[in-house]
Amino acid sequence: MTATSRAPEPGTSDGSALPVADPARIRRAALRLVRLDARAFTGMLVLNALAAAAGLVGPWLLGRIVDEVASGGTVAAVDRLALLILVLAVVQLLLARYAGYVGHRFGERTLARIREEFAERALALPAPVVERAGTGDLMARGTADVASVGVTLRDAGPDLLIAAVQALFILGAVFAIDPLLGLCGVLGLLGIRFAARWYLRRALGAYLDEGSASSALAEQLAATAAGARTVEALGLQERRIAACERAIGRARTTRNRTLFLRSVLFPAVDVSHVVPVAAVLLIGGALHDRGATSLGAVVASALYLRQLSQPLDRILQRMEQLQSSGAAFARVEGLDPAVPAPRTGSAVPDGDLIEVSGVRYAYEGGDDVLHGVDLTVRPGERLVIVGPSGAGKTTLGRLLAGVDAPSSGSVTVGGVPVAGLGSGRLGRHVVLVTQEHHVFHGTVRDNLRIASDAAGDDELRAALAAVGASWVDELPDGLDTDLGPEGHRPDGAAAQQLALARVVLADPHTLILDEATALLDPATARRTERALAAVLESRTVVAVAHRLQTAHDADRVAVMEDGRITELGTHDALVAADGAYAALWRSWHGDGRERR
Ligand code: ADP
Repeated sequence: MTATSRAPEPGTSDGSALPVADPARIRRAALRLVRLDARAFTGMLVLNALAAAAGLVGPWLLGRIVDEVASGGTVAAVDRLALLILVLAVVQLLLARYAGYVGHRFGERTLARIREEFAERALALPAPVVERAGTGDLMARGTADVASVGVTLRDAGPDLLIAAVQALFILGAVFAIDPLLGLCGVLGLLGIRFAARWYLRRALGAYLDEGSASSALAEQLAATAAGARTVEALGLQERRIAACERAIGRARTTRNRTLFLRSVLFPAVDVSHVVPVAAVLLIGGALHDRGATSLGAVVASALYLRQLSQPLDRILQRMEQLQSSGAAFARVEGLDPAVPAPRTGSAVPDGDLIEVSGVRYAYEGGDDVLHGVDLTVRPGERLVIVGPSGAGKTTLGRLLAGVDAPSSGSVTVGGVPVAGLGSGRLGRHVVLVTQEHHVFHGTVRDNLRIASDAAGDDELRAALAAVGASWVDELPDGLDTDLGPEGHRPDGAAAQQLALARVVLADPHTLILDEATALLDPATARRTERALAAVLESRTVVAVAHRLQTAHDADRVAVMEDGRITELGTHDALVAADGAYAALWRSWHGDGRERR
C-alpha cells in the first residue's frame, strides 16, 4: 500500500477475525492425516504393542523368581529366569527404538503436509480477509501454531499411543495374574480419572483463549512496529503502548489460567499413582495371609502397578500437550472456511468493456464509502480519477481491479463480474499496479514466471527490455541470478521494473494504476516512468491520480467527491464547465507555475 493511502490505524484487529475449526472438524482433519499415511501409523502401533508386550514379561518373571525362591527352587532355574528378563529388556528397547523412528518419520511427513496445506490456504485467502484479520494472526498460525502441531505429531502423538498401549497391557497383565488385584488397581486409578475429566473440560477453551491472546499480542506488536513512523508522526506512542500493554495483560491472564489448570492436574495425578500400589499391597497382603494368592502374584501386581505410573504420567503430560496443540490445530485448520468459496464462475468475458453500475461499498463494520458509482471505461482510453483525499478513489480502484467485490451493484469486464474471475483469469484482463512491489526469493526467471509460467526466455527478455531493465543482462547468471538476501538485491526502481515486466507478461488489456511514481525519488521516478509508459502502451488505463498533470494528459477525467463521481469528461470540457475540477486545476496550475 502506498504511504499516501489511509491504512487503518495499526492493530485495531483483535486477532480473532480468522475462524477456528470446531472439534468435529479437528477430528476429521486428524483422521484424514492419519489415513494419508496409514501404513506408517499402523506400523508404529504394532511395533509399540510388541515393545509393550516385551516389557510386560519382566515383572511377571520377577514374580516367578519370588515364587521359585519361596518354594526352594534351584539357582540354575533362577538364573535362567534372570537371563530371560535381560534378553526381553533388550528386545523391548530395540522395538521401542524402532517404533520411535517410524513414529518420527510419520510425524515429519504429516507436518510437512500440514505446512504445505497451510501455505496453500493462506495464499488462497482473499486480500480483504487478510486485511481484516491482520497479518499477526496469520503469522502466529503459520509459525507458532504449526510448530506446536508439529511437536505433537513428532513426539507427543506417538508417545501418547505408546503409553496408552503400555498402560492397557500392564492393567491386562495384573488382571491376568489376579482379577481381584486388577480390580484394586483400577479402582485406585479413579482419582486420576476425576482429575483428568476436570482438566479436560476446561483445557481446550483455556488454550484457545491463550492462542487468541498470543495472536492479538503478535498483531499489536507487529502493527506497532510496521506503523512506527505513523505512530511517531502522529504522536500515538502512549496509545500504542497502552494497547500493547492491554494485549500483554490479556496474554498473561490466559496463560495464568492454563498454568492453574496444570498446577491442579499434576499434583492430583502424583497422589493418585501411589493409591493403586498401596491398595494392592494391603489387599494382596490380606489375601496372601489367607492363602488366596501367592506372594509372587502380589509382588508382580505391585510392580506392574508401580510401572503403570510411568505411562500414565506420560499420557497425562502428553494429553496436556495435546490440548494446547489441539487448540493450535483448530486454528491452523480453521483457516479453511475463511476462504469464502470464491464465486469464480466459468463465464468468459466478452470484450474489454469495463462497466461500474450502482456500486456501493463499505469496509468491514463501517458505513458506505461509495454511494452508487456508475462508470463506463471504454476500451483503450486513459481515464484518470481525481478528487480530495478520502473521496473513495483508491477504493474504487480496488473494486475495478477485482481485489474486492462491491456490497451492491456490479463491476464487470466484458459482462462478467471482475471479482468473480479468480486471480488466474483476472490477470489476463485487469491488473492493479501500485507502488507496492515485491521481489520474491528465487531467480529472475522465477520472479517473472509468476505472471506467465509458460513464458520462454525470449519472452522474458522482451518483457525486461520493454520496461528498460537492462541491468538483468549484466547480472553474472542472467535470468538464473538469485534475487534476495543471499543473491543480487535489486533497488527500488529495479524491483518496480520487475513488477512491471510481470505486467507485460500477464498482458492484461486494462491496468488500474495507483499513481505509482508519486513518492519515488526523482531519479528513480524517471526510470520507473519510462518503464511504466512502455507498459501502458496500447492498454486501457484507469489511474488514481495524485497529481493533476496526469489528468491533463488523460482522455477523460472523473472527479470523485464523498464516494460519488461528481464530474466526468475531458480535461478541456471540465475546465470549461468551471466546476470542482476547474477549481482544482486552477489552484494546482497556479501553484505549479510558481514551482516551475
Ligand atoms: P482516496 O483514495 O480517495 O483518498 P479511499 O478510497 O482511500 O479514498 O478512502 C475512502 C474512505 O474509505 C475513507 O473514508 C477512508 O477512511 C475509508 N477507508 C479506506 N481504506 C479503508 C480500510 N482499509 N478500512 C476502513 N476504511 C477505509
